[in-house]
Amino acid sequence: MRERRVLMVASEAVPFAKTGGLGDVAGALPLALASLGHDVTLVLPRYRGATGGTPAGSTQVSLGGRVFDVAYAEHALADRARAVLVECPDLFDRAELYGVGAHDYPDNAARFAVLARAALEYGAGQHPAPDIVHAHDWQAGLAPVYLRTLFAGRAGIAEAAAVFTVHNLAYQGLFPPVWMPALDLGWELFGIEGIEYWGKLSFLKGGVNFSEMVTTVSPRYAREIQTPELGFGFDGILRRRGRRVRGILNGIDDAAWDPAADPHLPAPYGPDTLDDKRLSKRALLERLGLSAGDEALARPLVGMVSRLVDQKGFDLLAALGDSLLSLGAAFVVLGSGEPRYQEMWQALADQAPDRVAFRAGFDEPLAHLIEAGADIFLMPSKFEPCGLNQMYSLRYGTVPVVHAVGGLDDTIENWNGRTGAGTGFKFRAYTPEALRGALVKALAAFEDRAAWRAMQRAGMSRDFSWSASAAAYAEVYEAAIRARKRARGK
Ligand code: ADP
Repeated sequence: MRERRVLMVASEAVPFAKTGGLGDVAGALPLALASLGHDVTLVLPRYRGATGGTPAGSTQVSLGGRVFDVAYAEHALADRARAVLVECPDLFDRAELYGVGAHDYPDNAARFAVLARAALEYGAGQHPAPDIVHAHDWQAGLAPVYLRTLFAGRAGIAEAAAVFTVHNLAYQGLFPPVWMPALDLGWELFGIEGIEYWGKLSFLKGGVNFSEMVTTVSPRYAREIQTPELGFGFDGILRRRGRRVRGILNGIDDAAWDPAADPHLPAPYGPDTLDDKRLSKRALLERLGLSAGDEALARPLVGMVSRLVDQKGFDLLAALGDSLLSLGAAFVVLGSGEPRYQEMWQALADQAPDRVAFRAGFDEPLAHLIEAGADIFLMPSKFEPCGLNQMYSLRYGTVPVVHAVGGLDDTIENWNGRTGAGTGFKFRAYTPEALRGALVKALAAFEDRAAWRAMQRAGMSRDFSWSASAAAYAEVYEAAIRARKRARGK
């Protein structure tokens, strides 16, 4: 294996800033790559609240005639990994990362163009130069574009290969064409092969079209986004790049999500001490004010931790409504999102207060206790690029019931009642009946204690650690470097 130098660009990363899955991945991947021997510099904005770091130079970024003073602060992450925070208070010292409420900041195009430029400037100053520029999601989408335009004459970094990772195709970074000159993008780029998308400029399209390799966060999602049903209008663009598109499953933080060492549980447990999982079940039922006697402990408990939006399958659950109560299970649901889904779950809880509990909001400790205390974890997403909760569930011996889509399909093996093989239950048609059917099957299997134990243990034995994912990214880097060499005629 060649040890590569990677310049990573992302708009958020744990532990500095996070609004979703991107933050987890951008935080974990540099460490996993570094432990394989690669050298990673992760560049992200310095948002309000992020402090510290060692001053690591400054520069001026001129953008459409405006000049931004930028300073860099370096934070060591590991032996071969560091984060470089881009300080530019005018752009990044704000209350939120991307906007307030449903309103994006009106200058997001400039903010993230400056991020891309500042990252490339930093990389251009590195010796030896980066082999790879790895950009994540639309916010970093202009990094590959500038690499091939403004930085094309800069020896060193100009030779780097670009890799772009799509975490969620639903966000495309669309801006009116007046931004083209304001971002120093020549009009020759404003075409169908370039970064124009239905009359607008798309940062996401820039990332997809100007990178040697494109990845997304599960193999199945990589295929799905090349179809009209799940391509959000980008299927044609991605099909054209088909050979260059790969799917790599996200890993999970297996230290934070470990039932044998989880501070949020009343007692640890593992594959050989599964009886102790019951203590988490009791604690969960008690904490949520549900019955927690012997009868309740014997009754199957279905858990959900989710954003309450259509994407996550709440439209199917709403269609099932009251009939969920006749399944003979108890339900615990934690989530925030659309008021109509909050009202629906609250109404079910009011109807069956001993068997249904709903908590609105974001609650990390409760999320852990639900993963541990539930018997079944429900994730009926309409689409799911990767999904993390189903992987946590497997680790916690909590059997997932999922819609067979995206990362859910890749990570869950459907249970086979005849052979006893499998780790969960999948349904294929996105209909309330199919969801109900999968739940009924899971609840029936729950009654067969030995079969259930075998399924729990099978799930707990699966490996979703970052090291396998990082090795797959390293292979993509090699493919990108080969493609870049071919393009340069070497
Ligand atoms: P997505 O990124 O589409 O929301 P994922 O399953 O990939 O879905 O990741 C969601 C992450 O956010 C998981 O770690 C999950 O536990 C967490 N999460 C979602 N909603 C809540 C909540 N209400 N409280 C605590 N954690 C939550």
